[in-house]
Amino acid sequence: MPIERVEAIPFRIPIKAEIGPIESNIWAMDAAEHVLVKITDADGVVGWGEATPRVTIYGDTQASTVAAIREWIGPALVGLEPYAVEAAWQRMDRLMHNLPAKAAVDMALHDLLGKRLGVSVVQLLGGMARDRAPLGTIIPLGPPENVADIAVQAVERGVQTLKIKVGKDPDRDVRAFRAIRRAVGERATLAIDVNQGYSVPVAIRVLRALGEDGLAWAEEPVKAWDAAGKLKVAQAVGVPLLLDESVFTPQDVLREIRNGACGMVSIKTARSAFFRSRAIASICEAANVPCVLGSARESALGTVVSAHFAAAARCVVATELGDHVIYEATLLREPPCLANGCLVLPTGPGLGIEIDEAQVRRYRLD
Ligand SMILES: [Mg+2]
Repeated sequence: MPIERVEAIPFRIPIKAEIGPIESNIWAMDAAEHVLVKITDADGVVGWGEATPRVTIYGDTQASTVAAIREWIGPALVGLEPYAVEAAWQRMDRLMHNLPAKAAVDMALHDLLGKRLGVSVVQLLGGMARDRAPLGTIIPLGPPENVADIAVQAVERGVQTLKIKVGKDPDRDVRAFRAIRRAVGERATLAIDVNQGYSVPVAIRVLRALGEDGLAWAEEPVKAWDAAGKLKVAQAVGVPLLLDESVFTPQDVLREIRNGACGMVSIKTARSAFFRSRAIASICEAANVPCVLGSARESALGTVVSAHFAAAARCVVATELGDHVIYEATLLREPPCLANGCLVLPTGPGLGIEIDEAQVRRYRLD
């Protein structure tokens, strides 16, 4: 049945008081200020998605995301059949940028479609027949002793991949990485995310030093627009560069792989959802480039979305999933099941989640 309504609901869920605000080189936050997207078809079947606007990355805010959906995207989709995901993207792309808004719509369409067909999204994607996705975590910028504590707690929860935010102070970054390595030993894969914070010579120096300590990959070490700089770093160090802010779209991924500096790709369902993430995954598989399923610090809803894709896609070798636990609440009736270092996918149709309307009323901003 055709799409009847597309709603955008801004919400704010604070980060738990004991965790406090978290910081990276380009972003600091004390709450998820995201947008819940609800799509209803003519039979009353509902699909859900979560948009994660990031003004320092995509140029959009919570208010601009709500406006994009209410004024542009929603009206363009009413009347379209929910299985026509490619047509939906074509219509959405009349509006430039706004990737988190478009991604949330794609998530909701897949949720709705799965519910109509009685299959889960991971089944709909026709992937690897896996029922779970490995957990990871993002360790925010902070003093070496603090971040080592956070790392140990994560490893004790079963987290397999630790991504350490760096990029503001190279010497402190090296100390923080080594403190974490000492604290967790070989129990976890360690990566860094520089968020474009280093110059080319500093990136080469830090990555060579941490390479000796088993740095698995280094994310966006220099400016995302500096193609020559990225290539220089990639050729000078033995650690693969993982690209994130350089690769929002399939076209970006192709360009970066051709440039020769792209060792790995961060796929984020927060910006490419299912449809565009599949295109990115296909390019990466064809180029033999492994992928990490990256987190946009989604709430539990967006985390389940990412887990469906991670479980389906062969090229995904690690994730950053599981950090939804930093928030004081979830909009879901049942929080995702975390067991043995993995997120076990819910088995119900679509995303397999149920939205808790009382929680939505409590955390919505409008
Ligand atoms: Mg990143």
